[in-house]
Amino acid sequence: MLDHAGSLTAPLIDPFARPITYLRVSVTDRCDFRCVYCMSEDMTFLPKAELLSLEELDRLCSAFVRLGVRKLRITGGEPLVRRDIMWLFQRLGRHLDGGGLDELTLTTNGSQLARFAEPLYEAGVRRINVSLDTLDPQKFLGITRWGKFDKVMQGLDAAKAAGLEVKINAVALKGVNDGEIHDLVEWCGREGFDLTFIEVMPMGDIGTEMRLDQYWPLTEVRRELETRWTLEESGYRTGGPARYVTCKETGGRIGFITPLTHNFCESCNRVRLTCTGTLFMCLGQEDAADLRTPLRESEADEAVEQAIRGAIARKPKGHDFIIDRTQGLQGVASRHMSTTGG
Ligand code: SAM
Ligand code: SF4
Repeated sequence: MLDHAGSLTAPLIDPFARPITYLRVSVTDRCDFRCVYCMSEDMTFLPKAELLSLEELDRLCSAFVRLGVRKLRITGGEPLVRRDIMWLFQRLGRHLDGGGLDELTLTTNGSQLARFAEPLYEAGVRRINVSLDTLDPQKFLGITRWGKFDKVMQGLDAAKAAGLEVKINAVALKGVNDGEIHDLVEWCGREGFDLTFIEVMPMGDIGTEMRLDQYWPLTEVRRELETRWTLEESGYRTGGPARYVTCKETGGRIGFITPLTHNFCESCNRVRLTCTGTLFMCLGQEDAADLRTPLRESEADEAVEQAIRGAIARKPKGHDFIIDRTQGLQGVASRHMSTTGG
């Protein structure tokens, strides 16, 4: 079928009959933090000329929306440190309200939220994910190296005041925040935030030994939580890979994202776009498609839509991360989370 813009509008379906309805977009590889599991302290970032402009990001995201993507998550790096990023949110907001998009959201470290919570709401964002692994300011500094705990707390207050729903993402780190998971549950319950625990993943070349020491399977996290809280199974889903339970005592939802111990590939509905216009069809596989070239080759969107379709036709069945003390670390060692956006 051809629509009025002349583009083919059949939805994106991959070879395993999974509709692709969720696009995560990394708008920058830069960040104002240096979390130990994500970046080394002396990161080399991409030259600015390599990045897609905000206009190009808008064009690409809009092509995906035309092809059936219903949820857009803006991430990074830290998305809110990209200059003029609110322009992109405002532009993409036009696809909400019957324009094809159900949700426009972001994942942020919270450092800039005090400034941006209100404009985000005005652009149509309703729910945000804020990454926070600890409530201890000293530990926070240890994990993020450069982060300012108070600023994140101010950002969270601003988000609440603006009417944004908040989900806290906490990476479960053995020997780091393992003594704090009950406090996190209690605090999130009090604040009205959902909470998701994430297993540390083998991404990027930042020191294998450290990652193995930090790895804490969520089966163990859940067992520990159950020593204090009543966790009731919940059918709640957000279109992402997290499985949720409800904490009876706080009434809050707790999610678990377990890429390593539980394979959720069969229901995968997502692809990831980097800030240079490279599309990764699977977080755990190297195969990728260059969308920047067709985007820049022509002002019409036909070539880029064809490139998107070609890429989706190559989406693999699944990934095979392995993290094991006997086998060592296997995964995508060369790609940082800040490039593909987590
Ligand atoms: N800067 C933003 C933030 O921190 O929320 C967005 C980008 S960050 C790469 C997205 C998510 O990936 C964060 O929740 C972060 O904790 C998580 N992450 C980064 N490196 C990870 C790793 N090696 N294993 C598991 N999660 C990781
Ligand atoms: Fe920055 Fe987010 Fe990576 Fe931390 S996890 S270094 S905040 S991109």
